Amino acid sequence: MAVKSVALVAHDNKKQELIDWAKENRTRLAPLRLYATGTTGRLLRENLGREDLHSLLSGPLGGDQQIGAKIAEGEIDLLVFFWDPLEPQPHDPDIKALLRIAALWNIPVACNRATAEFILTSAYMTDDQHHPRKPDFSSYTGRNVP
Ligand code: PGA
Repeated sequence: MAVKSVALVAHDNKKQELIDWAKENRTRLAPLRLYATGTTGRLLRENLGREDLHSLLSGPLGGDQQIGAKIAEGEIDLLVFFWDPLEPQPHDPDIKALLRIAALWNIPVACNRATAEFILTSAYMTDDQHHPRKPDFSSYTGRNVP
């Protein structure tokens, strides 16, 4: 069975919420490959005991962009991104870029706990036959440019 990969990111005011959700869903997350930005990853490893979690750079230091690159390369099946709607971040352009690249590549994104609950309990999560449609950019990449 193909292992699905999940990228996890939470802004500081949202980290506790992500950890609570992850602990509650430890069993559902167990078979999944996990990636996370630096600090989120450290906290998840400590709280879930998942030593196999792949930690990237901290978000403001380039971690969001690393996840974006993985999405573009087809390595991520789900993005759980608890971003903070009440506080501007130093890396707001990176956050916008990550959300854009996830939309572009048709990756499911959970920006809050309610959505994360819906997605993680979806039958598609355990359905090997289901793959979200990969967008066809051939007309874009093959376009005539002056
Ligand atoms: P962090 O990054 O997990 O390293 O705190 C999250 C973010 O702000 O993108």
